[in-house]
Amino acid sequence: MSKSCIVFVVQKHKATRLHYDFRLQIGPALKSWAVPKGPSIDPSVKRLAIMVEDHPIEYKDFEGVIPNGYGAGTVMVWDFGDYTLLEGSIQEGRLRFYLDGKKLKGVFSLTRTRWRENSWLLVKEYDAFDQVDRRGYDITKEQPNSAKTGLTLEEIGKGSGKE
Ligand code: MN
Repeated sequence: MSKSCIVFVVQKHKATRLHYDFRLQIGPALKSWAVPKGPSIDPSVKRLAIMVEDHPIEYKDFEGVIPNGYGAGTVMVWDFGDYTLLEGSIQEGRLRFYLDGKKLKGVFSLTRTRWRENSWLLVKEYDAFDQVDRRGYDITKEQPNSAKTGLTLEEIGKGSGKE
């Protein structure tokens, strides 16, 4: 069986406010959600995820500084990998998928809420990779650095213009 090679990336983005941009390759683009608190691997935690504009696939590798304009700030590739869509679609307002990232692994879901347009919830499902046995474990705090380079946000910020 051939392995699906569609990608996901989570970019930690220090703009006006720190948030995490969760992006899934769907069709020709990266469908994107801004997650203010970042993902959790505790299935009892629901994280608000605001659907934002699509990004081109090539953006998945971007780590660096956006000097000005929309999103100005520092971007880190906090996590990345392949994922498998298990069921659902954007149109249905629910997606279940299996992430094979450097940090995030296992089944997660994104479910559209009825509170307002563009608001979804990102939730980990119970599986071998959940963290129900480790109450209070916050993966964004425990593993804050880039999955691509190991750099901190501050280091990425200082490296602007080098490349
Ligand atoms: Mn962002």
